[in-house]
Amino acid sequence: MSVIYQRVALIGLGLIAGSMAHAMRRAGLAGEIVGTARSAETREVAREIGLCDRIVDTAAEAVVGADLVVLCVPVGAMAAVAQEIAPHLAEGATVTDVGSVKREVIEAVGPHLPEGVHFVPGHPLAGTEHSGPRSGFAELFDYRYTLLTPPEGTDPAATERLKTLWEGCGAIVEEMDADHHDLVLAVTSHTPHLIAYTMVGVADDLRRVTDSEVIKYSAAGFRDFTRIAASDPTMWRDVFLSNKDATLEILGRFTEELFALQRAIRTGDGDHLHAYFTRTRAIRRGIIQAGQDTDAPNFGRAPGRKDGAG
Ligand code: NAP
Repeated sequence: MSVIYQRVALIGLGLIAGSMAHAMRRAGLAGEIVGTARSAETREVAREIGLCDRIVDTAAEAVVGADLVVLCVPVGAMAAVAQEIAPHLAEGATVTDVGSVKREVIEAVGPHLPEGVHFVPGHPLAGTEHSGPRSGFAELFDYRYTLLTPPEGTDPAATERLKTLWEGCGAIVEEMDADHHDLVLAVTSHTPHLIAYTMVGVADDLRRVTDSEVIKYSAAGFRDFTRIAASDPTMWRDVFLSNKDATLEILGRFTEELFALQRAIRTGDGDHLHAYFTRTRAIRRGIIQAGQDTDAPNFGRAPGRKDGAG
């Protein structure tokens, strides 16, 4: 692969930015990678581990001369960062982000960007429950989807160039309308996270089942819930606050179905339960056939790298 951008500025140096830095280096996609983070501590760690070619103290400084700027901060912090960098962006630069919600980011970032700067929002559907500058790894995006949601009127050449970068990072790239993205992710990621948070909270409340029993006897289902529920609280708070409508819509449907299953259990309606579980089993098979998961233990991934989409 050859260099796609001469200078990439990573704003925020956590799991996603770190993984991008590793993946871009693996394929030689960036002439130079400049990074910055809010706290001196994160910047120091990033310097120590050589995460980027250069670490600077402010976002304003980081974007100078960059032909790609990637906003890798929580969704709720995007507007302030966009405001800070706007006067320092180079003519013709592309600004993108990796936020888990797209409509709110477009509304928060778009108005700050000057004429002559391209804005191509994005979302890699890959993540882990870990965060911070040490958590990234080059393989995170391999064979995972990255969705780009360019607003109407975006220069197709800017979108195409960013697509090439993500493909170089190992991702499969597709374009999607921002509102549709938010609905799809409410179903596939956001609501499941909320359910996991709830289930772990419920187990914690059940004092008749001791903590050690929960851990000792936890079957795969609950263990997966605890892994998901260990995700970064700031990131997930922002996801729910900014994808409110779609999440509430899906939660409403979820609650209705849950009540129906609850009634079936109470009334001993085995046919209902069996038919329901048969339908859901078919969905799982569909996911495997689409190549997005495997029947292999640990989903066929290296131990400790079981990932999910934010
Ligand atoms: P992370 O590891 O927690 O890193 C977040 C970075 O943002 C840190 O460098 C942090 O700086 C900085 N930051 C936090 N609050 C900030 C604020 N108010 N102003 C400026 N900077 C701030 O997060 P991540 O997992 O990489 O997530 C980054 C983005 O990717 C989020 O928008 C998230 O929705 C999206 N995403 C996450 C996943 C996932 O599974 N984790 C997947 C796909 C997309 P300090 O370290 O200095 O505090």
